[in-house]
Amino acid sequence: MPLSREHQQRFQKALYARGWAGYNWPVEYGGTGWSLVQKYLFQKEMADANMPAIVPFGLGMVGPIIYTYGSAEQKQRFLPDILASNTWWCQGYSEPGSGSDLASLKTRAERDGDHYIVNGTKTWTTLAQHADWIFCLVRTSSDSARRQDGISFLLVDMATPGVSVRPIITIDGSHEINEVHFDAVRVPRDNLVGEEGKGWTYGKVLLQHERTGTAGVARTQYRLRELRAQAGRSVRGAAPLSNDANFMRKIAAVEVELKALEYTELRTLAAVTSGKAPGAESSILKFKGTELQQAVDELYLEAAGYYALPYVPEQYVYDFPDQDRVGEGVETDAAPRYFNFRKASIYGGSNEIQKNIIAKHVLGL
Ligand SMILES: Cc1cc2nc3c(=O)[nH]c(=O)nc-3n(C[C@H](O)[C@H](O)[C@H](O)COP(=O)(O)OP(=O)(O)OC[C@H]3O[C@@H](n4cnc5c(N)ncnc54)[C@H](O)[C@@H]3O)c2cc1C
Repeated sequence: MPLSREHQQRFQKALYARGWAGYNWPVEYGGTGWSLVQKYLFQKEMADANMPAIVPFGLGMVGPIIYTYGSAEQKQRFLPDILASNTWWCQGYSEPGSGSDLASLKTRAERDGDHYIVNGTKTWTTLAQHADWIFCLVRTSSDSARRQDGISFLLVDMATPGVSVRPIITIDGSHEINEVHFDAVRVPRDNLVGEEGKGWTYGKVLLQHERTGTAGVARTQYRLRELRAQAGRSVRGAAPLSNDANFMRKIAAVEVELKALEYTELRTLAAVTSGKAPGAESSILKFKGTELQQAVDELYLEAAGYYALPYVPEQYVYDFPDQDRVGEGVETDAAPRYFNFRKASIYGGSNEIQKNIIAKHVLGL
C-alpha cells in the first residue's frame, strides 16, 4: 500500500542524509554526479532491497528541469528544498480532454504586469492533495501556427488563492489522484521556467525520463522472485502452489520476458553512455515494462485466489472457520494492487501512444 507523505519524507530524508537523494543530479546542485551505470546499479540495488520508490515529481522531474533550464534565482530558491524533500511537488500536464493529445491543453496564463493570471483545470494529478507546489504546462499564446509553441512551463504555489483540489477515488478505493482547478490564480512571472513558449520542449525531455523510469524491470524481478518463493511454501500442510506446473510455467514465461527487457535496458544504457540521446527506446521500455508489471500483478491475484479480495465480508470468513487465508502475505494487497496498477499502461503516455512512437521512429512505418 502507498506510504503516507510523512513516511515517504522520512525515507527520502534518510537518502538525503547519505547524499543519495540526488542520485541523478549533478554534483554542483548537491547530487551524486554518478555516471549512468552507477545510477542504474543504485536503482537496481534499491529494488533488490525492496525500498519504496522515490516520489518522482520533485527529485526526478521538476528538479532536473529547474537545474537545466531554470534561472540562477530559481535554482537557489527551489533546488535545496527539493533535494531535502522539504517540499512536495505534483505534475500538472493532463487536462480533461487533453491527455494523449497534450498540445491541445487549454489552461491559460495571461500576462498582467509582473504576474500571470492562470485559469483552467488539470486532471489525474497524482498526490496533489499533499503537494506544496505544482509544475504546469500552460498556454501563454494561441497565435503560433504550431500549437506546441504557445505552451510555457510554470511553477505554481498550491497555497495561492484560487487553487483548489478535488479528489478522484480510483477503483481500488484509494485517493491518489485529483483534479486541480485554477480560478484567476496570480502567479509571479518569476515562476516561469526558461523562455515563454518553450515549455513543450522542456516537458518533452521530462516525459522521456518518466518513460524510461516506468520500466521498473528490477522491481518486477524482485516481485516475481518473492512470488516464486511464496508459491514454494506449503500453507497448513497443503501442497504448495509450485506443484502446479501450469502456474509455474506462467511465472517462467514472465521471467524470460523480463530477462529480455533487462538486456534491452542494458543496450539502451550502453548506447546512451556512448553519447546517443535517449529516444524512442524509452517508449519500448515503458510499454514492455508496464505490460510485465501488470502480468506479475495478475499472477499474484491468481496465487491469492479469492483471498485477494480486499474486503472479505465478515460472514464469508465465518462460514469457513478452519480455512487459513491462502498464501500469507499475498492476499492482503493483491486485488487492490492489481486494480491500482492498471494505471501503469496509461500514465506517462498510454501504451497505445508508445506503440505509435515505436512504429514511427523505430520501425520507420
Ligand atoms: C493513475 C494515473 C495517474 C496520473 N498522474 C498524472 C499526473 O500526476 N499528472 C499528469 O499531468 N497526468 C497524469 N496522468 C494522466 C495521464 O498522463 C493520461 O491519462 C494519459 O496521457 C492518457 O490521456 P487521457 O487519460 O486523456 O486518455 P485519452 O488521451 O483520451 O485516450 C483514451 C484512449 O485512447 C487511446 N488513444 C488516444 N490517442 C490515440 C492515438 N493517437 N492512437 C491510438 N490510441 C490512442 C489511448 O491509448 C487510451 O486508451 C495520470 C493518469 C493516471 C491513470
